[in-house]
Amino acid sequence: MTEDLSHLLTHLGEDRERGFDAVIPPIVQSGNFCYPTVAAMRDTVQHEFEKPLYSRGYNPTVAVVRQKLAALEKAEDALLFSSGSAAIAAAVISFVKAGDHIVCVHKPYSWTKKLLSELLARFGVETTFVDGTDAENYRKACKPNTTFFITESPNSLTFELQDLRAVASIAKERNIISLCDNSYNSPLFQNPIDFGIDLVAHSGTKYLNGHSDVVCGVLAGSQAHMRQVMSKEFMTLGAAPSPHDAWLLMRGLRTLELRVNRSADNAEKVAHFLEAHPKVKRVHWPFLESHPQYALAKKQMKRCGGLITIELDASDEAAVERFCDASKRFLIAVSWGGFESLQWPVCALKGPSGYYTDLPFTMVRLYIGIEEADLLIEDLDQALARM
Ligand SMILES: *Cc1c(COP(=O)(O)O)cnc(C)c1O
Repeated sequence: MTEDLSHLLTHLGEDRERGFDAVIPPIVQSGNFCYPTVAAMRDTVQHEFEKPLYSRGYNPTVAVVRQKLAALEKAEDALLFSSGSAAIAAAVISFVKAGDHIVCVHKPYSWTKKLLSELLARFGVETTFVDGTDAENYRKACKPNTTFFITESPNSLTFELQDLRAVASIAKERNIISLCDNSYNSPLFQNPIDFGIDLVAHSGTKYLNGHSDVVCGVLAGSQAHMRQVMSKEFMTLGAAPSPHDAWLLMRGLRTLELRVNRSADNAEKVAHFLEAHPKVKRVHWPFLESHPQYALAKKQMKRCGGLITIELDASDEAAVERFCDASKRFLIAVSWGGFESLQWPVCALKGPSGYYTDLPFTMVRLYIGIEEADLLIEDLDQALARM
């Protein structure tokens, strides 16, 4: 960390004298800003990246959080978006044009996949999806017009990893911009910039905010890259966060270290419990020795987050439903990263809209929150018995 973590989360960027010496920075709920003179306004128009003109571009409350997010990812700067998907879309669109080619890991986040295979395909940008467990597949998929690499290590459902250092070095050899969706790890457990990745994206909705009450997204990288994204895609696509949501995110960051480590502690206990349970056929979690990329996970990640996917020894969907319905502590819901434990069975997202049809119906993704691990384990045990 460029700054000591607790300093960063409690003080960095807060300039309290500019906010009535309030301990908590105020929510600057203003759409626009005014100037004493025309000259002062002219100056701000030239510096929209770092001065308040209009809140789609720059807002003082958002700016406090941007500084913290950049420091967390060891980046020069960061942008805050109104969703993680918006952050990823703006980043990709910023660095490609019609006729370019992207290489992306297999099975990225569902809306990243849609961005590439549907939206950008309509505008003449082609994507090859590769098995990222071998970094060389990125090189093999490259064409003369490849300009962008996308990694998501690990993804948030089946947890395949990419060797980020290897992928970044292939990118650098060819002047390709690389991005990592680092949501699963949070900035505490992995910093892709350490490995040479250019751009780091997060769904701030998950661990960063951590209270299940805000949807937001983050993009971090060099000043030059952030200025490029800000001046074009950020401003035109306009997925700016509200000052109030930025302020809630700041509130969430205060306890980032406590929450994420607690979720990871709990996940470790739950993963080992599940692995030993006869009604669970397989547990997907990168820090289990049974994970096919355990060695890479241990090398690349400081710790492992709270998402665990299990395959139940269930004969039909009804049995999976009995397991999920019997749980008293895991809410049935999408998303993750909050204080509360969650579960979503793959069978709930199958249907005409066509999500995840290639995955076994026995799969259930669990998110392990910050409750007492023993109570979560007790609950899973009784639900498995009723399966
Ligand atoms: C949730 C999520 C996203 C999308 O973020 P939103 O804030 O929901 O737009 C992207 N990547 C991963 C890994 C996620 O879990």
